[in-house]
Amino acid sequence: MSAGGDTIFGKIIRREIPATIVYESETVLAFRDINPVAPVHIVVIPKKPVVSVAHAEVEDKAILGELLLACGEIARQEGLDSNGYRIVSNIGRDGGQTVFHLHLHLLGGRHINWPPG
Ligand code: AMP
Repeated sequence: MSAGGDTIFGKIIRREIPATIVYESETVLAFRDINPVAPVHIVVIPKKPVVSVAHAEVEDKAILGELLLACGEIARQEGLDSNGYRIVSNIGRDGGQTVFHLHLHLLGGRHINWPPG
């Protein structure tokens, strides 16, 4: 199963609710997180409503690669390259996922602690 139900991210893709979009391609959209936990906090999503990495299928291989490449490009755009940054995907209950449309969090602009809480 890779198709997800509609979520708030679907509404952003369809421009039904506003978002500060920082990157868009045919398959990927990225926008600033509404509740940032770092000076730079960008949500990078596939336009296809895959629920999470756990729901991705072999046919989603290209999309998964495009998400990571988009993160690299956005990080360069945001000037994060020299100091570094973190890419995180929360999956399911224990992962702390709250929006059930696959997304990568791109976090930077401060030192990001490890391990996560
Ligand atoms: P997660 O908890 O990993 O599922 O991440 C969902 C993220 O989406 C959270 O960091 C939220 O702050 C963010 N978020 C929820 N609604 C919006 C929105 N309308 N615009 C931008 N970011 C959002």
